[in-house]
Amino acid sequence: MNYRDYKRLKLGPYQSAGMIGDVYAFEILTGIADTPEYYQITKEEFDSYEDWSKEFITDLKTLYTVVNRKCICSGYLKTSDYRRNYHFDVAKCPECGYESVHHVGEIKLDMKYEVKCPSCNNAFFKIKD
Ligand SMILES: [Zn+2]
Repeated sequence: MNYRDYKRLKLGPYQSAGMIGDVYAFEILTGIADTPEYYQITKEEFDSYEDWSKEFITDLKTLYTVVNRKCICSGYLKTSDYRRNYHFDVAKCPECGYESVHHVGEIKLDMKYEVKCPSCNNAFFKIKD
């Protein structure tokens, strides 16, 4: 994924929500040079962005799960080859397309974990990447 394809749809002061291709993404500006980083979000999270983007003031629940996912792309010229094991992951149901967020901090990278779709009850496996 290339961050240059990011389309900013909902604006915030140091963050925004938008799309990269057909994937919903959260953009946050980091570092001294305001370099952007992008994280995958679900359609529901995109729809409720106005609420959870203000969590800086209240609690950091959604924001915390978003930034503890794999960074899907960034504006940094060099990204480290070191693969972090993230706490949360977005899994898309192959049957109905519904995306759900899972706490997978204890699952090792490249291991499968089982997902039960909250929308259609389909059970499937997602590889932790
Ligand atoms: Zn489903």
